[in-house]
Amino acid sequence: MAKEHLFKKHKDTDYKGKAEAFCEDYKAFLTVAKTERLCVEYFVEKAKANGFSDIFDVKAPKAGDKVYYINKNRSLVLAVIGEEELDAGINLVAAHIDSPRLDLKPAPVTEEGGFSYLRTHYYGGIKKYQWVATPLALYGVVVKKNGETVKIAVGDGENDPIFMITDLLPHLASKQMTQKMTEGIPGEKLMVLAGSNPDLDEESDAVKTALLKILEETYGITEEDFYSAEIEVVPQGSARDVGFDRSMVASYGHDDRVCAYTAFEALLETKTPKKTAVVLLADREEVGSMGNSGMQSRFLEYFLEEVKPGVRISKVMVNTLCLSSDVAAAYDPMYAEVYEKQNSPMFGCGLTLLRYTGSRGKGGSSEASAELVAKIRKIFDDNDISFQFAELGKVDEGGGGTVAQYIANLGADVIDAGVALLSMHAPYEIAHKADIYEAYRAYIAFMAAR
Ligand code: MN
Ligand code: MN
Repeated sequence: MAKEHLFKKHKDTDYKGKAEAFCEDYKAFLTVAKTERLCVEYFVEKAKANGFSDIFDVKAPKAGDKVYYINKNRSLVLAVIGEEELDAGINLVAAHIDSPRLDLKPAPVTEEGGFSYLRTHYYGGIKKYQWVATPLALYGVVVKKNGETVKIAVGDGENDPIFMITDLLPHLASKQMTQKMTEGIPGEKLMVLAGSNPDLDEESDAVKTALLKILEETYGITEEDFYSAEIEVVPQGSARDVGFDRSMVASYGHDDRVCAYTAFEALLETKTPKKTAVVLLADREEVGSMGNSGMQSRFLEYFLEEVKPGVRISKVMVNTLCLSSDVAAAYDPMYAEVYEKQNSPMFGCGLTLLRYTGSRGKGGSSEASAELVAKIRKIFDDNDISFQFAELGKVDEGGGGTVAQYIANLGADVIDAGVALLSMHAPYEIAHKADIYEAYRAYIAFMAAR
């Protein structure tokens, strides 16, 4: 049961070098794919370059064929068709590509006291105080009434402006500093500072008018066009190494792009598996997996029906093994009081497996059966994959959930399997390079399982 650091375990091989090289590409991905739409674009482009085709362009895919299915531009299913019929079940790795952030409100543009602002509504579980006085970038799309889509990406280009949400100076924060951390920064104060120059011809709303004119000149959009926009405020900056030994990676969006990326890369390494190997990249996990791009919708089933028209989905699903690949809470000695160490993932010691998540007595969670766990242990042991069983913190300390339960509801055998993080859901989260690489190795082994 002793956990061993992967770099120690593999000290006589080039494992460390391979892990570090793998993470260079991973960091480049994180830096350009900061929204679920950008993740879909990134993965589709790379999939095409690796021989994948749109499922709607492939008639009756056969063993070895590589296909993808884009769902609403915000979620994606990719597969390498196996030798066996779909009825034999699929080997499914499911991750999510949405991350906590601030979304612009439908009518975001406003002016107050000589500044223009963009109003936001946060998405997912954030600690609001982490989003003030930190550099931000804007990404998204504006779809105009004529159907034209305008892409917004500003903040990360070398000469781009950045965006900020102001915080109160300590000199005047004596009251704020005594408030609860949940109340110190109210949601309505998460207003993105967007400009301060007045329009020279306007008397009223001159600053707002000036901003709208810039938006019109730059993007050809009007104030009303924000109604049909999806614009996300995300942390500015690129993924970076952490520590003198460069052992870790800090980035926005590890949750859950670390599992999405490693699963995708593992699928690229999968050649004609016995069972069809599928990677599902879902949207809206951070808000409960609702909606037609979330895991509670039926796009996995629609995809399978395109692979084999008339297939009995029930038969496929009851024979399916699934890794619900999402991040876990790594043991953090700075907050040791919320962890039960023996059942917590240790950094650098391999893939984290959670039989269940949930809260208050396993509430709101599926649970992997003993039979499934035995199969998974064998797959990983046979392939020399390091894994560690864990829970999400101490009993009754809090809790959480993943897409696992929704896939379990379809009849599949599901276990949570992902990379452990420090500072999960913070603007910059931290992962260990060894754990990232081991997840990739684990998913390769899982896809090839019979
Ligand atoms: Mn997640
Ligand atoms: Mn999350």
